[in-house]
Amino acid sequence: MKIKAQLAMILNLDKCLGCHTCSIPCKNVWTNRKGAEYMWFNNVETKPGIGYPRKWENQTIHKGGWDLNGGKLSVKAGGRIRKFINIFHNPDLPTVDDYYEPWTYDYEKLISGPGKKHQPSIRPKSIITGDKMDIKWGPNWEDDLAGVCETGIDDPNFANLDHSIYLAFKNVFFFYLPRLCEHCLNPTCVASCPSGALYKREEDGIVLVDQERCRGWRYCVSGCPYKKVYFNWETGRSEKCIFCYPRIEAGIPTLCAQTCVGRIRYVGLIFYDAEKIQSAASSKKPSSLYRAHLDILLDPNDPEIANAAEKQGISQNFIDAARRSPIFKIAKTWELALPLHPEYRTLPMVWYIPPLSPIAEHIDPPDQTDTVDRLRIPITYLANLLTAGDKAPIRRVLKRLLSLRNYMRSINVEKSADKDILKNVGLTEEEAHEMYQMLAIAKYEERFVVPTCDSSDGMGQYHGQGSCGFP
Ligand code: SF4
Ligand code: SF4
Repeated sequence: MKIKAQLAMILNLDKCLGCHTCSIPCKNVWTNRKGAEYMWFNNVETKPGIGYPRKWENQTIHKGGWDLNGGKLSVKAGGRIRKFINIFHNPDLPTVDDYYEPWTYDYEKLISGPGKKHQPSIRPKSIITGDKMDIKWGPNWEDDLAGVCETGIDDPNFANLDHSIYLAFKNVFFFYLPRLCEHCLNPTCVASCPSGALYKREEDGIVLVDQERCRGWRYCVSGCPYKKVYFNWETGRSEKCIFCYPRIEAGIPTLCAQTCVGRIRYVGLIFYDAEKIQSAASSKKPSSLYRAHLDILLDPNDPEIANAAEKQGISQNFIDAARRSPIFKIAKTWELALPLHPEYRTLPMVWYIPPLSPIAEHIDPPDQTDTVDRLRIPITYLANLLTAGDKAPIRRVLKRLLSLRNYMRSINVEKSADKDILKNVGLTEEEAHEMYQMLAIAKYEERFVVPTCDSSDGMGQYHGQGSCGFP
């Protein structure tokens, strides 16, 4: 067993407001530079929709992630020979129009233009070319389902569902999906780079791009199935979410997590067995990938695991943090969080609690007795998004969340705790109260358990901000 520590995040989609507050500080701090205007390390999509960049989930077009051929993993976009042949023109890259052409306005004109009879107006102009432009797409074009009656047909999560039924006005559903780099355990961006510029940090698993080694081949961009590596057209280098590592090293959560208005995000350490990565990622059936991924996560409260971790050089600081981390509890103990598109086989480490939704009475068949089948968001859609089509884990999570809600209702409204509600989903009262505390009212130090790094000067990168090359 080779124990490694990984920083991970869980997002409770049931609580996301779609306010985009998370994206703004990230943008202002990390990508507020020339060449990075179109980059959103964190973005919030409305689902259903084709997202940003357009159709990022369609791996037939983008060829991101891994394939399993004869039990062996291979990069979907092809090996060295295909890379060599296409080295000056990578055909799998999204175009700038798939992201959006960044634009600005000539604000000066509003202030200094001559007085006129009508309200002054200015037209958008491209930041890249300086030409006037008509805006046809953006990072948040489908906000609250805008235009989804046209784009929804290309949302692959409608597989095995009739999208037209679910986009009809009376049946429509939507929810928000905040996205960032998944800091995968088996990242294709790292495996795709011919220059070895991408790497996974030894101590906490954060995936970074070495700007000195990057040669701008952009195979990381096409290799990442989540399309979370971006090419900076000014510097000619790739860039990606750095999990706010200067903050993390100082024991502070990422900007997107700290500023989240809905308090939907949890950040913490988790231990896993690195020797089992290959076998987990090579699980034969895509629908078994979630379970295989779950199985390689290790319990830091198990004394044997903690002793082995210490012997393998993991600091006591990290072991303590992993024990207090909300990640293991939510993902493994309660099995409430699920990985995004596990079928890409990258073993992503940003997981999601699926959202509940109002009961839709029109759903067929009308005699459906199980409440989770009558929720407005179809289970099949959530399963295509989070469990490679396996509906059982989605049903289990939704049932648990519903039962918790009903149990708390029985206490707070009916003034008599209904324990039977919990029995049906295998929860004890103690667990229910703990889950309620964590999911509904957890305080800062419960949601974010981030150990400081072992820096020799005891200072960490965060405090060196502005003085040693950090923006
Ligand atoms: S999500 Fe992040 S770590 Fe995973 S493949 Fe994409 S860029 Fe790499
Ligand atoms: S800040 Fe939080 S609630 Fe708002 S969109 Fe981002 S993740 Fe959702």
